[in-house]
Amino acid sequence: MTAKHYLFEVKPNIPPQLAKLPLLSKDLIYSWKEPIRQLFIRLDPELWEHCSHNPSVFLRRIEQHKLDKAAVDADYLTAYRQTVEWYRHYQDSNGPPNQDTNTLLNPKKDLVVYFCSEFGLHESLPVYSGGLGILAGDHCKAANDICLPFIAVGLLYHQGYFTQTIDPDGNQIATNINHYFGHLPISLLKDDKGNELHCELSLNGSKLTLRLWEAKVGRVKLLLLDSDLACNREEDRSITRQLYGDGMDTRIKQEIVLGIGGVKALRTLGLQPNIWHINEGHAAFQIVQRCLEGVEQGTPFDAALEWVAGSTVFTTHTPVAAGHDSFSRDTMENYFAEMAEQLGIEFETLMALGYANGDDSPFNMTAFALRGSRFHNGVSKIHGGIASAMESYIWPEVPPEDNPLDFLTNGVHINSILAKRWAAVFDQHLSLWQHHLLDKDYWQCIDNIPNGIYWRAHRALKSQLLSVACKRLTIQQQRNACSLALQKSSTCQIKNTAGDILVLGFARRFATYKRATLLFSDLPRLEKILNNPERPVIILFAGKAHPSDEPGQQLIRDIHQFSERPEFIGKIILLEGYDLALARYMVAGCDIWLNTPVYPLEACGTSGQKAAINGVVNLSIMDGWWAEGFNEKNGWGIEPHSDKYGDDYRNQQEASDLLDIIENEVIPAYFERDDSDLPVEWLRLSKASMKSCIPQFSAQRMLMDYIEKFYLPAKRQNQRLGKNKHSAAIILAQWKQQIRSCWPGVKARVIEQSALGIHYGDKLSITLGVDLNGLSPKDIIVECLSGYLDATNAFRLDTSYTFNVESKPAADTEAPQEVVYRLEIEPQSSGIYHYKLRLYPFHALLSHNFEMGFMRWL
Ligand SMILES: *Cc1c(COP(=O)(O)O)cnc(C)c1O
Repeated sequence: MTAKHYLFEVKPNIPPQLAKLPLLSKDLIYSWKEPIRQLFIRLDPELWEHCSHNPSVFLRRIEQHKLDKAAVDADYLTAYRQTVEWYRHYQDSNGPPNQDTNTLLNPKKDLVVYFCSEFGLHESLPVYSGGLGILAGDHCKAANDICLPFIAVGLLYHQGYFTQTIDPDGNQIATNINHYFGHLPISLLKDDKGNELHCELSLNGSKLTLRLWEAKVGRVKLLLLDSDLACNREEDRSITRQLYGDGMDTRIKQEIVLGIGGVKALRTLGLQPNIWHINEGHAAFQIVQRCLEGVEQGTPFDAALEWVAGSTVFTTHTPVAAGHDSFSRDTMENYFAEMAEQLGIEFETLMALGYANGDDSPFNMTAFALRGSRFHNGVSKIHGGIASAMESYIWPEVPPEDNPLDFLTNGVHINSILAKRWAAVFDQHLSLWQHHLLDKDYWQCIDNIPNGIYWRAHRALKSQLLSVACKRLTIQQQRNACSLALQKSSTCQIKNTAGDILVLGFARRFATYKRATLLFSDLPRLEKILNNPERPVIILFAGKAHPSDEPGQQLIRDIHQFSERPEFIGKIILLEGYDLALARYMVAGCDIWLNTPVYPLEACGTSGQKAAINGVVNLSIMDGWWAEGFNEKNGWGIEPHSDKYGDDYRNQQEASDLLDIIENEVIPAYFERDDSDLPVEWLRLSKASMKSCIPQFSAQRMLMDYIEKFYLPAKRQNQRLGKNKHSAAIILAQWKQQIRSCWPGVKARVIEQSALGIHYGDKLSITLGVDLNGLSPKDIIVECLSGYLDATNAFRLDTSYTFNVESKPAADTEAPQEVVYRLEIEPQSSGIYHYKLRLYPFHALLSHNFEMGFMRWL
């Protein structure tokens, strides 16, 4: 029989001189404020690494004598006091002086709430899996930076996402670790009397109670919901156990907790946000709960939905339909039948809000989010276009390019991702750079950094990366009991951290569309590229595959196998355990950042932005953000090839372009040196990356765009539709009802238009007759779109004109019920004109002219 282990913990006493350390350990501002991090690191750098950069754990593990020594160390105390003072001041201040968002959103009256199923703020709070979560974390950080009245809502997972190791055969081993909440930088919310704050919801007929936790991100709060309470049914306690846990039943329960629980949690805290942002469809059930609040105030459901949708912003992230959550009718009925009753509607009416493709399809969260919001966007220009087409069924008569699904390109939090070393170089050579993050002209000053200094900074970051890579690979291979010979040859290149090798990096989720193995399409050629002793090149790979994504895991095995071939050993290096910490080293320390998605499947892709900001030069397929970021001077773009001859052919062509560029452009740019041994061409590309991408792809730019494009209009709609017990929403809902019943019978025809040709100085005149089928002329807009055909024969709009109603009755009497519309245009130059005629319903209370999806062309 083996002996049972008993466990107890001895926590150090925090000396009174350092009493504020625990406070600092609970504010994720340490994820980007170096002086705060330094207060911990200085006490015990090894322990800091050992605790995975988690100050909460650090303060429970640090040796008492180290704290006691720091408490009487004058140097340490000076740094401590300065930092504490800075922090106190920061908490009270309203942000950098040149920020004017406070005039746009009023901190006393407005509140933006941001819902997401994951938040990646720092490795010490592992409630994220990848890009989506890190984007959400960066959104919060940017909101903090500009002092936006903002709160975020998410779930507190006991296990977060899995940690990854790779076994000797290249299999991904996924391990789930239970996090002890006392070790996370979060606190339990309590009322004045010290009782835990809870909120309750009804789940499938039984009561579910949630605990509320708070993570502090400077001035911003992230509210995290947790279902693991003793009073809950056993199966409900595990709802928040795992991020993207198995099974659709767990999934819908998580989404109910996030959406419905999230709204209830905000109310428990007495908060009344007026701008609601849903980041990806997982959180869309909040719409239902807010409608219920409207109904409980006496507003009919359809008007409540108008009111709710008017203040809701929805961002979609996935250009693949299978990536959107959808729930079967049975599942929905199980959890929402009672809700439909409370809403005063048929269950079918609720169900139909989630239909994506016809009546008997399941309940699609993206379709539902689109019907329950009036401001929607994809996350890059290309993705916006793809999403508009994919979701065009919501607005069936509107051409995708005109429908309300817009785009807004992602950005990254500069202060979190810019390497310390670069921040120091900027501090020295650029004045007040922190205050000019959005100023494109300002960033030309990157050129003021002398090439020698710039190159040294980059080289330092590269050797840091190589030494981390070497350490990680050694741990990995020792654990896998690899032969010493293999260990030695695998690290022979990266061990020499001062060596002048070209380092290409590829790190992101291993999903098949990202084509991590595209480079290996022509092995002899790749072998030749990597094995030139004069110009050594290595490629670093890292990333996780979702545990249920078998093809993704096969990619890991493939790369692992390539990395052990004699011709690639030491040159192709696969690192395990990709997370925020490893990402930070990689996006700052590589020379070139590779991305090879299948166009148009990379919705945005933010790791390339992180690289560019650190002067790492992008080489990527022109997809996602790079189609906007590439300016011909800051890296290389590969035009996607058509797939009309099949995927294999396309992959082959793109792989060949990729290898051509590496061989003929990247390698010379890096290895050709001037008299001072500087790679002038690489430096030019690198500086161009920073200059163009820092102002264009920062999270602050993204947030300012969200404010202007969506938050302010949503605030306005909330006000207009909500006041006087939703009276305007009621009017709008009734109007829409009338439009829906009359629109199918609306008919329009051309009565008269000028002959095909007119002379310069004459007017083009068009007369239309419209049978409004009971609607009033003010209910519709009749438009002429004038433009030209471009080289591809596509219509390009120049000007749009609105028709006026003629008081005269119709010229012919066969259609006495028709309203006559007339337009006269005087063309400003000779030539060929093209025009199109259309009509659509219009009401001043609409958020978007085409939100009803009705449009008729003549
Ligand atoms: C930035 C980041 C991602 C997202 O990268 P993509 O290029 O968008 O795939 C994923 N994981 C980590 C750890 C990151 O830092």
